[in-house]
Amino acid sequence: MVLADIAQRWARGAAEVMFPPQCHCCRRTGTGISGGLCRLCFQKVPYIDGPLCSVCGRNFVSSQPTTHLCGECLRRPPPYSRASAVTYYEEPVRTLLHRLKYRYDTTAVGPLLKIARSFDISPFESCDIIVPVPLYRHRLQDRGMNQALVLARLLFADTRSRIMPGILVKKQQTPSQTACDAAGRRKNLRGAFALIDRLSIRDKKICLVDDIYTTGTTVAECAQTMMQVNAAEIVVLTFARVRETR
Ligand SMILES: [Zn+2]
Ligand SMILES: [Zn+2]
Repeated sequence: MVLADIAQRWARGAAEVMFPPQCHCCRRTGTGISGGLCRLCFQKVPYIDGPLCSVCGRNFVSSQPTTHLCGECLRRPPPYSRASAVTYYEEPVRTLLHRLKYRYDTTAVGPLLKIARSFDISPFESCDIIVPVPLYRHRLQDRGMNQALVLARLLFADTRSRIMPGILVKKQQTPSQTACDAAGRRKNLRGAFALIDRLSIRDKKICLVDDIYTTGTTVAECAQTMMQVNAAEIVVLTFARVRETR
């Protein structure tokens, strides 16, 4: 072993003593931490499991053993062909997304990337364009970043050139969606999005990316806006999804 290697190893060892690796989720320090996530937190990641609706991706609470269409998609087919998510919106992902979204805490990015790396992105590789759900410009100024764009860059780390954040804009600020039911959410968002570049999406397969799928109203409104100008197909990928419990 040459002297330079010994010096490098010594420096690395000293750095680990002075700055031990920390889990950016539970803040524990020590061994077994990689990508900013400790083994315990990584084991808790609530990856999506089936059976699911083959269109909107909701989980079935009943013991129906196979993937099929849910009643809501049969009654009111959404303007996208499929919605998928990496995980359920539960711990530790809930905390990580919350920190990224409301505190622009960049230490959440490493763990989210590690979680995204365990997700099979191949079904989305046929998409021509990746569009993060936009924020209204004042909201963007307040937050300093669009979490949907950050997550699109994590999920499509190897094909970033297809991410086109400027194509779709949010024209108006809409009231908070958290207190509304599905009908109220749809009313709030009607006509809220607009396309800047209509030609570039014509006949294209588009992947819409957002942080959380709650009722699907936001992505449905974005998809509707794009289908009106003849996009070929819209698929949706969110980082997390609220789990159906009844
Ligand atoms: Zn941890
Ligand atoms: Zn469905």
